Amino acid sequence: MSGERPSYDAAEIEADRQAAWAGRGAFETPEPGDGQAAVYVKPSSPFTSGNLHMGHVRDYAIGDAYARFRRARGDAVLFGFGFDAFGLPAEMAAIERGVRPADWVERCGERMLVQMKRLGLSFDYERAFYSSDEDQYRWSQWLFVTLLEAGLIYRDDATVDWCDTCQTTLAALQVEDGRCWRCHDPVRLIRRPTWFLRVSPYLEENDRNLDRLTDWDELSLKTQRYILGRTDGVEFDLQGPDGRSLTVFSPHSGSLAAARFVLLSPRHPEVEPWAAEAAVAERLDELRSGGWERSARDAAAVPVIDTGASVAGPAGGELPVFVSPLVDARYGPTAALGIPEVDEADAAIAARMPRAASEPPGGGPAAAPEAREATRYRAYDFSISRQRYWGTPIPVVDCEECGVVPVPAEELPVRLPRDIEPTGEGNPLAERADFLEAPCPRCGGPARRETDTLDCHFDALWLWVPAAVPPEGRAEEMFSHPDLKRWLPSERLVAGNDSGGFVFDQRVVTKALRDIGPFAFLADGEPFAGCLFHEMVIADGRKMSKHLGNVVDPDELVAEHGADTVRLAVLYAAGPAKALNWNDGALRFASRFLNGLWDYTHERIAAAAAAPEDAEAAADTAFIRERLGKWCENGVGRITADLEQLQMHKAVRNVTRLLERVQDYEKRIVKRRGALSRPDFEALLEALALLARVLAPFAPHAAERLLLALGGEDGEELTGPWPGSPAAAETAGAARG
Ligand SMILES: [Zn+2]
Ligand SMILES: [Zn+2]
Repeated sequence: MSGERPSYDAAEIEADRQAAWAGRGAFETPEPGDGQAAVYVKPSSPFTSGNLHMGHVRDYAIGDAYARFRRARGDAVLFGFGFDAFGLPAEMAAIERGVRPADWVERCGERMLVQMKRLGLSFDYERAFYSSDEDQYRWSQWLFVTLLEAGLIYRDDATVDWCDTCQTTLAALQVEDGRCWRCHDPVRLIRRPTWFLRVSPYLEENDRNLDRLTDWDELSLKTQRYILGRTDGVEFDLQGPDGRSLTVFSPHSGSLAAARFVLLSPRHPEVEPWAAEAAVAERLDELRSGGWERSARDAAAVPVIDTGASVAGPAGGELPVFVSPLVDARYGPTAALGIPEVDEADAAIAARMPRAASEPPGGGPAAAPEAREATRYRAYDFSISRQRYWGTPIPVVDCEECGVVPVPAEELPVRLPRDIEPTGEGNPLAERADFLEAPCPRCGGPARRETDTLDCHFDALWLWVPAAVPPEGRAEEMFSHPDLKRWLPSERLVAGNDSGGFVFDQRVVTKALRDIGPFAFLADGEPFAGCLFHEMVIADGRKMSKHLGNVVDPDELVAEHGADTVRLAVLYAAGPAKALNWNDGALRFASRFLNGLWDYTHERIAAAAAAPEDAEAAADTAFIRERLGKWCENGVGRITADLEQLQMHKAVRNVTRLLERVQDYEKRIVKRRGALSRPDFEALLEALALLARVLAPFAPHAAERLLLALGGEDGEELTGPWPGSPAAAETAGAARG
């Protein structure tokens, strides 16, 4: 039987299976049946960067295994995504290559789709989309206008980097050691009007809901807590000059009497009266235009302004009032007590400020103000607009008569000219008369369009929505299609650990849309019922980078070893909460396992055909067959539990252990009887078929071909139903009946 046995040829096997899946539309999103669970598995939205990297492979291999598992369990699964296609990286890549961003993005996306299919990822590719498509960004504009009208978007001055040579604002990514990335001239900070998203109304609810997100892993919850930056303490009202009072917060409720000063945020809503003196107002203005965000966390370097005013301290005496963004970096836009005795940062401020009392003032006659329990959040509104070409145009005009006027929903989209080849100089949209000039929607008079575009972070606020709407419904019903109620919230988000900020803001916007109306059916305002965050993929203990020469290219790995081996290796190498330090060991392990299983299965299929019917021998080994049945049941139980928790590294390990059990069974029979009888072989092949079915979420191509070799029929029933699931019990019942 040596010559005929097919060897494990990953390239042939994978091309064959991928063609079969494409041929029968295996991953099309189904219409859920009565009582069938609708499970929307949401992978991260890739930037159109040109290539999949190992981090993508990790993300999608986890999500794909979970999606395939849920399908096999009998659930209706939506596994879809869109490209995060607008934004700076695409624009910079296009500038470097001298091409249009629109063309660059399309080229990257097409290439990444080929890579995804080559990995055997079971996305519903018909639902894939680009955030830069007109019928997508039209809805980003709709969201902007909707949030603007709800008072959740506003315009304010913000500090940005500016290059005089290139006549453009720069993102942090474009400033290297204080110089422009393009011309290498020094940059300076300027103040300019910027659009902001208001998140403050939903911070408390985002916080409160964390306790109820029981299907979120610890890593993802940790990011949400970090972004919230919650601090508990006390607050009380301190009396200042002219009968003014100031509510002051402190986390150190046991040390209030030791307070030496009060620190006020420059963003505090009532900061102005404290900076009434001309010299103080001027310094506050300087501070606000000084780009203080960069040093706000360093108490030794952060700007501090003495207002000259004082308030009555909680234990008597007078406390000087200082203004500093250090408060924002710790507790948000509030006022806080400075207590050097118990707080290092406060001690650093006290050392720098002559008016900070050298010891607690105390001794005064003041009645201690009543302290209330209080909570502060560091999370704060953030800017959503950029002076950049490649982004969603902001749908407002500036009219001489009416001021800022939003473009009405029925006139959307405001189209982005796609034929622009940006150079990095100036502001391309401001130079295009056909874009710039527009009639005012209110008075019909001449107006100018906003030439800033939305940061791609804004597009990402709702990037999880479109996949849940069939493509033909998106033009009219993106936020009102009946399918939304079926698929949302997403059963599981699988994303990298750096997605915490995106997810936090998506949770805010879901609550806003619930209150405004379209998402009223999401009572708790949560877009993701479950969430799994994974750490990144590194090499040699360091981040992969071209500079270090340690980048692992998934294409090369797949070409050399096959997609199944790469998927299995990535899943096996580390649990999601750990960084995956890529090494060939996992690859060798996966390759050895798949080759071994392949050969073993085919050898036993051939041997079974020649096995004798030996009733006496069969009766003698019945108890070993029974034991194999138990081992299989236990193994499947463990693998199922691992998959439910998305702990794929454990699941893969348990799949390999199951093969060891099967081989152990065979050894025991050989030891007892010298050879396997026909019933022994039948039990062995049945166990191998079971093994192939539980391998299918991880290495789907090889698993399906093994099932075909074991007599399975090609088609959607080939791998299912999941052993031990209700659907499997039904099938078994039908077969017996
Ligand atoms: Zn420049
Ligand atoms: Zn007007």
